[in-house]
Amino acid sequence: MSVRVRFAPSPTGQVHIGNIRAAIFNWLFARHECGKFLLRIEDTDRERSTPEAVQTVLDAMNWLGLTYDEAPLYQSTRLDAHREAAETLLKAGHAYKEDKGGTGKGECIIFKMPGKDMMFKDVIKGELRKSAKDMSDLVILRSDGTPTFHLANVLDDIQMNITHIIRGDDHVENTYRHIALFQALGATVPAYGHLPMIINQQGKPYSKRDGAAFVGEFREKGFMAEALFNYLTLLGWSPGDDREKMSKDVLVSLFTLDRVKSGPAQMDIKKLTHLNAMYIAEMPLDQFIQKERSVVSRLEWGNACGENLFKEVCKLMQSRAHTFTAAEEWKYFFVSDIAYDEKAVKKNLNKEGVKQLLIKAKERLATADFSAKSIEDIIRGVEKENGMGEGKLNQPVRVAVTGTSIGAGIYETVALLGQQCVLKRLGYAIEHFCI
Ligand code: GLU
Repeated sequence: MSVRVRFAPSPTGQVHIGNIRAAIFNWLFARHECGKFLLRIEDTDRERSTPEAVQTVLDAMNWLGLTYDEAPLYQSTRLDAHREAAETLLKAGHAYKEDKGGTGKGECIIFKMPGKDMMFKDVIKGELRKSAKDMSDLVILRSDGTPTFHLANVLDDIQMNITHIIRGDDHVENTYRHIALFQALGATVPAYGHLPMIINQQGKPYSKRDGAAFVGEFREKGFMAEALFNYLTLLGWSPGDDREKMSKDVLVSLFTLDRVKSGPAQMDIKKLTHLNAMYIAEMPLDQFIQKERSVVSRLEWGNACGENLFKEVCKLMQSRAHTFTAAEEWKYFFVSDIAYDEKAVKKNLNKEGVKQLLIKAKERLATADFSAKSIEDIIRGVEKENGMGEGKLNQPVRVAVTGTSIGAGIYETVALLGQQCVLKRLGYAIEHFCI
């Protein structure tokens, strides 16, 4: 039978990276096997599953390119089928009615666990077992007639002819119950694979307290969909060699479940950021410009960015941008009134001897042709004449003309800022910050 897998999110308003990783692994598996990847919205919690919450799931999937086959199944449309199945189980003797806790609220339907030790072969974790005494009967239909997660989940997997259930390992305990339900309903039990937990630096489940945890946050912070997709595949899977940067096509061709790891996967934002920078560096310049344009358009100085200069700055900065929000730091290229980083000023300008060096550099820059090469020659010359090591004057010049100690190559930066601006800023720094 050909592979049919599904992503079955419960919409809550945000999509955790652990959930979307499950979607990605299912998608890759389906595409690798030329099977079907289906979507089921588990929206039986009517309070949380608002249309907006559902849309958030769809947006996250769309952004990451997680295309699904067939129309999505909304669990809330299947309540009658769920109720019917509970009745069937009741009639067949697999379930019984009880007023749980004697609340007087009415009877619910309870599924009888088979009373045998159970074992299943997880395609990722291997053989997993649980003894009968540790498995208690479970409610499948509440007294108000609504199905519980277990019944709805299993019944819809049967309805959708799911062959493989790949989900987070927080569901391992549920799986024994689900297998028993499949069997009682006379359905073929699908293969199960439980993905390793995503953990933080302390080895605890990765949560929003550890940093960005939701797909929307990564998008807002300027991560590329391709980079996040790629990075998440590495959280619990590897191609079997040390490759890390892989396109979607390559991932589809390489992805197999036997390479999914069973041990926990540690979230590493630095690694994700590094990967993101690689993706940004190789995107077409035009696209990068467009992206950065949309970033600066949200800032108060955004409309000060003239087209030509903005393009040149993008060209200079693309290879060192870690995320799309990089442009937020480019203000000094476009406005005359720049901010100065106090610490950087103290460390680089407010020091004995710097004044004379900057005065000399300024004098020579006043008559230079302002190519990066001649700027470099001038700064090198001043360093040499004053017995300084190569590059020692770079930071004082950088802080004087940009207000900050970080940026692109200083000669290119100075050239791009232009002669008039640089002479003015050097003059200001000499007068106000140097001693
Ligand atoms: N709605 C469940 C969840 O998001 C589905 C689990 C499953 O994939 O079976 O955890």
